Amino acid sequence: VTPLGQHGETGDADESLESQVAYVIQNRREHAYSPAVTRLLDLSLSYVDDAEAAARKGSGAAWVMGLWDAPLFYACDTIPVSLTELGRLGSAEANAVAEDHFQFPKETCSMVATLLGEWYMRSASSIKRIVMYNGYCEPLNQAGELIRREGYQLHRIDSVVCPADSDNEERRQQMVRFLTGQLGGTARWLTGKPVDDVRLAHEIRRANRLLRKIRRMLDLRVHNPYYIRSLATMFILMGIGHYFGKPDAYEDMLDLLIEELQTAAVVPAPRGRIVPLAWVGARGQEFGVYKAVDDSGGAILGWYTANPWLADWREDLPPLEAVADYWVNRTARTSWDRRLAGIEQVVERSGARGLLMYMYVGCSFGGIHHEIQRTHFQEKGVPSMSLEGSFQVGPPTGQLLTRVRAFVEMLT
Ligand code: SF4
Repeated sequence: VTPLGQHGETGDADESLESQVAYVIQNRREHAYSPAVTRLLDLSLSYVDDAEAAARKGSGAAWVMGLWDAPLFYACDTIPVSLTELGRLGSAEANAVAEDHFQFPKETCSMVATLLGEWYMRSASSIKRIVMYNGYCEPLNQAGELIRREGYQLHRIDSVVCPADSDNEERRQQMVRFLTGQLGGTARWLTGKPVDDVRLAHEIRRANRLLRKIRRMLDLRVHNPYYIRSLATMFILMGIGHYFGKPDAYEDMLDLLIEELQTAAVVPAPRGRIVPLAWVGARGQEFGVYKAVDDSGGAILGWYTANPWLADWREDLPPLEAVADYWVNRTARTSWDRRLAGIEQVVERSGARGLLMYMYVGCSFGGIHHEIQRTHFQEKGVPSMSLEGSFQVGPPTGQLLTRVRAFVEMLT
């Protein structure tokens, strides 16, 4: 495991890239030839500010994880504002606030520390509502309680835990029923009334349409991976959970990107050859890692992250139940054996020759998953590299670049 975010060595890392936002801006410059990718990165750069501005003008908005939330929240006239995108705006100050003001221990997940700090510093912000799914993790649950004391309103969705025997259909249906009830409560908390089934069904159809377009885009990208580089591709996948607050603009961007990929000349690989890889786990804040992979001749063509893009939402169920079903049965939060099967599917579909497994410092879940996955794929002859990163980082270290290059080299 390489601890990231240590700045002792520089290698040929670009020292001017001191923040996540700087990487996005640099990416935007690199993709100047593509109106679609430029639009995508603009959506990302303006997302939180525009959501806050909309909330100031009276639109509904709430902080959420931004994974499965889009259909339910848009059906409730509420912009889902993703916590991870808030983290990406993070400053070094945020972690200091978490430690000093909240006495949040250093060894706790850096993602949670950053979020707490950012929320605290934005306490005058227009978005004071948070919807939290209790089953994510305990550090996040604690952060919810701490920030509640600072004047935020917190709604909790009670969790359901996947059974060890993940094929226990009866238990799964029980979980879906329980979660359906919880989500009904979320809709009432957001709007003061029961969910509008017609609108939710419309949003579920939209989600499926967008997923089809994303899969089409990923398939086209296999033939031209450097047209849209890895970091920008990751942003497309992240958008599945929230559409950057602008569903129509997100869909238009996808249409345009598909059009561009169908006709654009192939962008040559930086090192004359392409090593297909799959990214597994957290999506990461060290954007320099994505750049290091691309620059070494690797191309991340398969993704197994918190954003499920392989499975559709069920349109044959009552809409609220379809949301619960999606969460219980289709996301990466499912049981470990289904998770392994999902990664295998991604590896097969992308032709990945190796796995890059990413987790945040202090995340015990991530550590356990890495162990299980490493052993499983070692036995199958698929090499993997574990990366452990934090939310507050600048450019990647020289040590990291060397390791990533060596990994890609080894797979050539
Ligand atoms: S990275 Fe792990 S510990 Fe941190 S918020 Fe996510 S699940 Fe929780």
